[in-house]
Amino acid sequence: MTTLSTARRLLGLIDRERIVLPLVIGLGVLGALLESVGLYLFVPLVQGLSGAPIRLPFPAVNAWIAGFPPDMRVGLFAGLIVVCIVAKNVLAYLCAVLWFSAQSQVVHKVQTRIFEQLVRSGADYAADSARATRISAIASESWKLGDATVAVFRTIVAVITCVIFAGLLFVISWRLTLLALAAMAIAAAILFAITRTAQKVGEDSLAALNTFGKHAWESFNALRTIRAFGRESYEIERLRRHSEDVRRGAMRQEMLWALPWRFGEVSATLIVAALILTVGRDPQGLALFVAFLAVLYRMQAPLREALSARVQMNGLQPVAAQVFSIMDETARPVLVSGSRAFAGMKDGIRLENVRFRYAEGEAEVLRGLTLDIPAGKTTAIVGPSGAGKSTLIDLLARFRDPTDGVVRVDGVDLREFDLAQWRAHMSIMSQDVFLFDASVRDNVLYGDATADDDALSHAARIARADAFIEALPEGWNTRVGDRGGRLSGGQRQRIALARAVVRNPDLFLLDEATNALDAETERAFQAALAEFSRGRTLVVVAHRLATIEAADQIVMMEAGVVIESGSFADLIGKRGRFWRLYEAQRLATAAE
Ligand code: ADP
Repeated sequence: MTTLSTARRLLGLIDRERIVLPLVIGLGVLGALLESVGLYLFVPLVQGLSGAPIRLPFPAVNAWIAGFPPDMRVGLFAGLIVVCIVAKNVLAYLCAVLWFSAQSQVVHKVQTRIFEQLVRSGADYAADSARATRISAIASESWKLGDATVAVFRTIVAVITCVIFAGLLFVISWRLTLLALAAMAIAAAILFAITRTAQKVGEDSLAALNTFGKHAWESFNALRTIRAFGRESYEIERLRRHSEDVRRGAMRQEMLWALPWRFGEVSATLIVAALILTVGRDPQGLALFVAFLAVLYRMQAPLREALSARVQMNGLQPVAAQVFSIMDETARPVLVSGSRAFAGMKDGIRLENVRFRYAEGEAEVLRGLTLDIPAGKTTAIVGPSGAGKSTLIDLLARFRDPTDGVVRVDGVDLREFDLAQWRAHMSIMSQDVFLFDASVRDNVLYGDATADDDALSHAARIARADAFIEALPEGWNTRVGDRGGRLSGGQRQRIALARAVVRNPDLFLLDEATNALDAETERAFQAALAEFSRGRTLVVVAHRLATIEAADQIVMMEAGVVIESGSFADLIGKRGRFWRLYEAQRLATAAE
């Protein structure tokens, strides 16, 4: 990605870009012209002060000035200079207001757009590193994109100012101008080298920042594990090292960014010295020389501005590229919603020869799965860990689509249905329950925002959560803490069940939802479930086989295919794989 295309994308994020950009350019041109006039007025001012006749290259202006008495001329020019400089500063301020408005818009848009796209796209960021990069894009890189936007504007205005000043220098003295240009070309070559280095340092710096963020994020999630293994010092040392890398990178970057400033001043002084040495032979006199120096001196500011903005842009380029790539990656939904309305399931779901792999080139997790899930019945899915049970649940919830084969609902490809409507008729509950740091009420309402207090209480009763909710310090208004941390595992599970129940789903998917429960709570949960599931389609992934004896159908999976299916009695009678697994579990439980 080039600087130009980055600049274009950044400007594209601004509201009314078509007006803002010409406005900034217009204000820049006007400001530079006003300043030029102000600077040029030094020529007649100095000529007036030294008592010499005013000789500007514009005869009409000379004649106009000659109309004033000599003692008024100096005052006139001084006054005009002040007016020009005041007006120029007003314009520069307006320009800066536009920049900062654009800057804040870019930050705001990047933050909200990345978040919105992440949530909507359906892409799943299971890996911590991927999540950390996205969080850092929202929290920190977005601000840098704001800075980059200002850098773009700074460059535009500075370049305009430089061009206009250069024109003015030519008007004053083309010979001196050529000399100055030659010196500047050398300076520019040196600055180019600095810019290149800054770009490289920017990339390294970003990599260090990513590593640091990823590690910090991982450690926060692993505090218990770190303590359990007594690895505190190791982790602190590791973070200290990453932080040190970030610090060094940031410092090198700042050092490089600060260079053009210093370098600009030194080279300008050298140029002035060279000019003083040559001016003796220049016939145009002291006044022109003073004006030339004044313009040249003023030119330093926009020149430095342009160069430092360029160095900054180069440093920010990798950051922008990373943020834009996240935005592109999530711009389109991973799962495209269908257009067919879904009002409820009549017959059931049929998986036909479904194959699935998580990524191109990886082994297939489901390898030609064919399965009927009748509506209104309970289907239990069992099998060893890694068999693909959770993946199957993901396909039913349409969190993912099959790589090959088809999932049909009442004979229609699931992909044809409106995704939101499909999900509206479904509840899912997994082993790792996620509760928001909000009240119990809000967490249950997450299942159906329109539910009234009666519906909430009813759901809590079914989930066997009513008693403990009432006993909480503030009842339904008790906050559950980050991820529900103030509740026990069983309580979290029952709130999650209430949340699923209040949704009143046709299809209820439970993925090892009772694993974290103790035996007594699990029995209560099973009873609750049995009551709730009447007339609904239930798909239960279960580890403890004793809990699924009552299922209408049991499907045993292994390595991505169905190896046995039937009722509990059928499978036990068959004395096959399910029977063996069941017996093994029974003996193990009896031995406990
Ligand atoms: P089960 O629920 O039966 O234990 P899963 O459906 O969770 O099985 O996993 C089946 C296989 O898919 C496993 O080998 C697992 O490592 C792999 N797998 C699960 N989730 C992902 C994922 N997000 N990315 C890549 N592979 C995955």
